[in-house]
Amino acid sequence: MRTFDIIIIGGGRASNLAKTAGKAGKSVAIIEKSKFGGTCANRGCVPSKLLIGYANVARTIQSSSRHFIDAEIKKIDVDKIFEKTNTYVDGVDASYRSRFNENVETFLGEASFVSNYVVRVNGEKLTAPKIVIATGTRPVKPEHEKAWTSDNIFPLKGEVPKSITIVGAGFIACELANFFDAVGIETKLLVRSQRILGKEDSEIASIFKEEFSKKIDIAFDTSIQKVAYINHRFQLTLVNKNNEISRHTSEALLYATGRISNADTLALENTDIKVDERGFIQRDVMFETAVKGVYVVGDASGKHMLQHAAAAEVNHLSKVLLKNVDTPYVFKYMPHAVFTDPEVASVGITEQEAKKQGIPYVASTTDWLASAKAQSTRLTYQRTKLIIDPKNYEILGCHLIGPESSTMIHQVLSIMHLDNDIRHLKEMVYIHPTLSEALLPAAVQAVAKVRKFKKAT
Ligand SMILES: Cc1cc2nc3c(=O)[nH]c(=O)nc-3n(C[C@H](O)[C@H](O)[C@H](O)COP(=O)(O)OP(=O)(O)OC[C@H]3O[C@@H](n4cnc5c(N)ncnc54)[C@H](O)[C@@H]3O)c2cc1C
Repeated sequence: MRTFDIIIIGGGRASNLAKTAGKAGKSVAIIEKSKFGGTCANRGCVPSKLLIGYANVARTIQSSSRHFIDAEIKKIDVDKIFEKTNTYVDGVDASYRSRFNENVETFLGEASFVSNYVVRVNGEKLTAPKIVIATGTRPVKPEHEKAWTSDNIFPLKGEVPKSITIVGAGFIACELANFFDAVGIETKLLVRSQRILGKEDSEIASIFKEEFSKKIDIAFDTSIQKVAYINHRFQLTLVNKNNEISRHTSEALLYATGRISNADTLALENTDIKVDERGFIQRDVMFETAVKGVYVVGDASGKHMLQHAAAAEVNHLSKVLLKNVDTPYVFKYMPHAVFTDPEVASVGITEQEAKKQGIPYVASTTDWLASAKAQSTRLTYQRTKLIIDPKNYEILGCHLIGPESSTMIHQVLSIMHLDNDIRHLKEMVYIHPTLSEALLPAAVQAVAKVRKFKKAT
């Protein structure tokens, strides 16, 4: 049996910990069953956002008539788009490995526990006083063997389909549907209920639904009753909530219906590590599992399922393991964005969550039309929704829909991270004319509402 200072299972975001620990002179074993770089770099955030870059250019041209410009796309070389994206993906594993120094030993294989501090990989046993589990998630298995998940398009092997049906209503389904549709691939999105981006504030989600439906062919309240794969095409029998049957065919069928924990690959039954009812590994505030010295970070904990959350956790755990930091890491706020057309960004609670939790709040929703820059987009749906604590002007939630929302949310986030007072957003001077300026009327209205609330109570 070989002994290391630290064993890391899962070479996604936790690769950074291996790199830092190696640099600090620790002997590290990092075990990865697929590719170093993990989901985000190989088959998640990065390649999917590379695709969105192409989609955004196509969408700008497709919607040029809004600006009285008669432009036409002559050809979109989708093969080239995937060739470029595949080339990026092909380089990820080597790029991540190259960051490790001689103290880091890489193991390519599926790790499982033999006991609390003993891990087996490729028949070899390894032990360490500190073990980090960072095994992430995998897509729910599609209901047909020929159907895809997002894993199948990063990298895309074989020909780019001319038509695709995507099942799902979350951010992955929407981002991929937007890409495929924008680059001219016949796309249909199947949504089981009436809700799409159901985790967003419902006011923002309903604007999203209206705008997204103008671009994408979406069948709501619809699911697949039967799938047949004949002559390289999926023959789908669809059923809606009124039990009406329809048929649809497409070359590709992609399920984006959720992700599940990889903890089932770890033989945790040989340890005292506990999982929750969804199969995610339980931990305390120091990211420590029920076994002392064994930690879990990133998606494997089932908490935030976002790359920036995994990165922050890994960064903090590095300090715990290498610099004896003994304070817990508490996320004050966890922002996220949906990179579609329209773009959505959000931080904090929604109005529905405030209601459900019985939190006193005032909500204000404003359009962006006071901003000349927003007007120049000739769009009218953009909105800022603020949820404010009327006792102390604290921003409880901010929800944006409109171009560059994912960038604009950061100015709100900065204020939240300082002393979190909406009045700063009202008092600061904005560059005129910018999209950011659209947040000024939102802040003015929110502050006025808080004052009115205070007067009335
Ligand atoms: C299509 C898509 C788009 C996304 N877009 C975004 C986005 O825009 N923004 C964002 O913040 N997040 C996004 N995410 C989520 C993001 O990818 C994850 O939150 C992030 O990758 C989590 O990092 P992690 O290190 O915890 O897990 P992972 O990156 O999943 O890494 C876990 C690693 O562990 C390995 N592993 C699993 N089990 C074992 C085992 N038993 N032995 C050895 N190795 C094992 C896996 O092969 C994997 O490499 C997206 C995800 C997808 C699928």
